[in-house]
Amino acid sequence: MSGDGTRVVRAGRRPEWTQGIVNPPVWRASTILYDSVADLRASGGRDTHHRLFYGRRGTPTQWSLADALTELEPGAEATFLYPSGVAAIAAALLSVLSPGDELLLVDSAYDPTRNLANGLLKRMGIATRFYDPMIGAGIADLIGPATKAVFLESPGSLTFEVQDIPAIVAAAKARGVVTLLDNTWATPLRLPAMALGIDLSILACTKYISGHSDVMLGSVTATKATWPALRDTSFQLGQTVGADDAWLGSRGLRTMALRLDHHARSALAVAEWLQTRDEVARVLHPALPDCPGSAIFHRDFTGGAGLFAFELAGGGEAERAAFIDALDLFGIGYSWGGFESLAIPVDPARHRTAVPWEGKGPLVRLNIGLEDSADLIADLERGFAAWRAARG
Ligand SMILES: *Cc1c(COP(=O)(O)O)cnc(C)c1O
Repeated sequence: MSGDGTRVVRAGRRPEWTQGIVNPPVWRASTILYDSVADLRASGGRDTHHRLFYGRRGTPTQWSLADALTELEPGAEATFLYPSGVAAIAAALLSVLSPGDELLLVDSAYDPTRNLANGLLKRMGIATRFYDPMIGAGIADLIGPATKAVFLESPGSLTFEVQDIPAIVAAAKARGVVTLLDNTWATPLRLPAMALGIDLSILACTKYISGHSDVMLGSVTATKATWPALRDTSFQLGQTVGADDAWLGSRGLRTMALRLDHHARSALAVAEWLQTRDEVARVLHPALPDCPGSAIFHRDFTGGAGLFAFELAGGGEAERAAFIDALDLFGIGYSWGGFESLAIPVDPARHRTAVPWEGKGPLVRLNIGLEDSADLIADLERGFAAWRAARG
């Protein structure tokens, strides 16, 4: 297999989609015209994959991005695109769950994933059990006759626990249970989900695929066995992505290997510096030993990314706000994976139900962007001065 830079540059650029143009161009469409009634009749049916049929089923612009994401995931059959990461998560879960089924959901999941389980899925008669992110092979004890799916997210949102994916997948496979992974942090470049046995791999392409904080996009990549249900469910839900948005996704993808390398190097440098500071109680970065599961990270992941968190060594809400407000290069805002650095206060204790979150101090999540790490470190020093002043 080629290197990551080569793979993201070449992925999805079939001559039929590009017509020789380097970045697959924007094909916008609703109506597709046919030559005759006979032609119109011949074009329908369920499998319109990669054939112009009607705008909702896509054009070469969307197919090129979907193909690219499939090519980046060895063992995958196909990819469906969604207008956000949350829409992708919802379609993936709805494609495998029915009333009466049970879902096992990791306690460190992205909060809107929890809301989906506790809201729409519950209303449909689908029960959810939340499990400890560090459960590993112990997941077998939670699998009952009604269990149909295990949802993983690794590293966990906000707290970055690294899950033992092979152990969980082995237990699930032994009982015929489908596994879904939110792979937004690592992307297939850092964690080849299907090579580890995952059935449905989900990305918020809003983050690293697009990389520029200017588009909402999601994807689910499926195995041969899980693809037909994913495709049919997504068609029935009317899911589609605008050609302009898909084009932004393709454009971002070409530089993703380069960006991820910078994000990862810079984030590790900042995290290691934070470890040396008296103002910091604990750094939750998957590559560093204080992060639960860091040994698994070094075993399974081929590299890092730019998002992690750390705990301040004391103070409360006001002192944490003083720290964040004093930063100049770190913006204050949701989402991540773009070229700009971000800092936000996060409070996992509010969400946890399987295992209570025992923090050592107020938690701050950092998205390390493409600025120079020395400048970011100087900015964080300013923040610590404000934090010390606020503590008096
Ligand atoms: C942001 C995010 C999502 C949701 O993506 P949107 O495009 O914002 O809907 C899903 N999972 C994780 C881990 C995320 O960080």
